Amino acid sequence: MKGRWKKFLSYYTNYKVLFFKDMFCAMISAAITLVYPMLTRYITGTILNQPKIDYSKIYLLGLFMLCLIVVEYFCNYFIGYLGHVMGVYMERDLRNELFSHYQKLSFRFYDEQNTGQLMSRLTNDLFSLTELYHHGPEDIVISIIKFIGAFILLSYINVKLTLIAILPFMFLFAWYYNKKMKKAFKRNKERIGDINERIEDNLSGIRVVKSFANEDQELERFDKQNGHYVSAKKNSYYYMGRYNAGLTSFTSLITVSVIFFGTLFISYGSINVADLIAFLLYVTNLIDPVKKLLNFTEQFQEGVTGFERFMEILEIEPDIQDTKNAVVLQHVEGNVMFDHVSFRYNEQTPYVLNNINLDVKPGEYIAFVGSSGVGKTTICSLIPRFYEATKGNVLIDGINVKEIKQQSLRENIGIVQQDVYLFTGTIMDNIRYGKLDASDEEVIEAAKLANADSFIRRLPNGYQTMLSSDGTNLSQGQRQLLAIARAAICNPPVLILDEATSSIDTRTEKLIEKGMDRLMENRTVFVIAHRLSTVRNSDAIMVLDHGQIIERGSHDELLEKKGRYYQLYTGQFELD
Ligand code: ADP
Ligand code: MG
Repeated sequence: MKGRWKKFLSYYTNYKVLFFKDMFCAMISAAITLVYPMLTRYITGTILNQPKIDYSKIYLLGLFMLCLIVVEYFCNYFIGYLGHVMGVYMERDLRNELFSHYQKLSFRFYDEQNTGQLMSRLTNDLFSLTELYHHGPEDIVISIIKFIGAFILLSYINVKLTLIAILPFMFLFAWYYNKKMKKAFKRNKERIGDINERIEDNLSGIRVVKSFANEDQELERFDKQNGHYVSAKKNSYYYMGRYNAGLTSFTSLITVSVIFFGTLFISYGSINVADLIAFLLYVTNLIDPVKKLLNFTEQFQEGVTGFERFMEILEIEPDIQDTKNAVVLQHVEGNVMFDHVSFRYNEQTPYVLNNINLDVKPGEYIAFVGSSGVGKTTICSLIPRFYEATKGNVLIDGINVKEIKQQSLRENIGIVQQDVYLFTGTIMDNIRYGKLDASDEEVIEAAKLANADSFIRRLPNGYQTMLSSDGTNLSQGQRQLLAIARAAICNPPVLILDEATSSIDTRTEKLIEKGMDRLMENRTVFVIAHRLSTVRNSDAIMVLDHGQIIERGSHDELLEKKGRYYQLYTGQFELD
């Protein structure tokens, strides 16, 4: 906990000067508000009571107060502008730190997290945190100076009337309703969260909704949630109404009490009219701090929650990290070896891979086949070390992948994942993502290699076609072709194609196959394919079942064997 506080405060270090300037301005501005009533009292009580009124003093004080207004203006301007800017600077630092931490975390982390939640940690949570960072100290300083200052000055004039003016039960009232109000507002936020979730789910799945003609049911569900939102809002406005109306009444009540008791005190001669005026002018100085402090408690709660959510992620150590002596791969031959590899996704689930042994020579073309969920994708994700082998080792050119710098390892492996993800941007940019410094010619060359060039050229804007963020303006097969081009562009010694041609028509696939010879030249290639016809040419086919390689050999050898591969192959063709 102590460490967290230290960390919390550490974000101020870069902006110390700005922070102290901000605090200084807050103090000056609060102190100035205390001066006006006292000056008024001095003018009305002392100067006006003199037998001969000294006008020059009045003018001088008037001028002095004008100067104070100017100073106050600049202080408030500084707080309102640079105070907030300081907050934004700190928000930027926090966000950069969290974002760069996100980049370090491994697949395992993202398996368990919800993207929406991760986003809100990076946006809303951090915003409430920065509000606390700059408003927190400011509000406390201003409230304390205003309240204590007014209290001391008023007690100096008259203690009894001061106690009357403070009305202790106003605090109780304000505290109680503020608490209720906060709770109600929190419920609002949850309801808004629910609504957002519904909308997101509905819009992402809008094509499914429409295809099942379930719009009415969706509307009904939405309407229900909207109704919950209305009742939550009503509830919070109820408390807000009470709180605001109550505080306004208290302000008036204080004014009225001060006038009533003040008049009595004047009649007894214990204070004079000038004192009464000062009291009346101080009323807001007593109420503002109460509001501000109550506000602060909320800000504090939200900010601290935001910080805790921030730290929760930051304290997660990436489970896959480069070791101190990690090496950079040079001139990779492309030998890939699985040495007694077993793997499970986590301790609670059974092993997905059991004792896999495989020695792939440079330039070989290996196919993994087997039914869905048997572990084909999993086995391939161990090579770029997306996950760590639970037992045994994966080696590239005889070097354990754990001892290779991740960046170097992944630069040498091209991968087309089963779910193709394309970024918002042009086709050119998306292919270039595989090699950021590639020239346009290189991009086109890679597209040709993946047989994507011809369809890209047919698009109205060719390589400059913008892809929408969900990629719906391309067919699944076209997306896969782009992904192949993206993986091929950096000319990786090891290439993994995970059902990369599953959505591509047979004719194009045949074309790619022809091109494949070039795509596969001089590299080790792993292919996972549904259509077994595509893996016929591979050097060796690995048939997976129950986490093990149950058959291995060439197409012809395996057919001859009349085992699982034979079943899969013939079964598939029967189905066709
Ligand atoms: P395949 O690619 O052969 O269809 P996968 O390798 O994707 O199969 O999955 C193998 C098994 O591992 C499946 O039972 C699947 O449920 C499980 N699995 C896959 N990915 C994860 C994951 N990220 N977390 C936990 N279990 C997973
Ligand atoms: Mg798979």
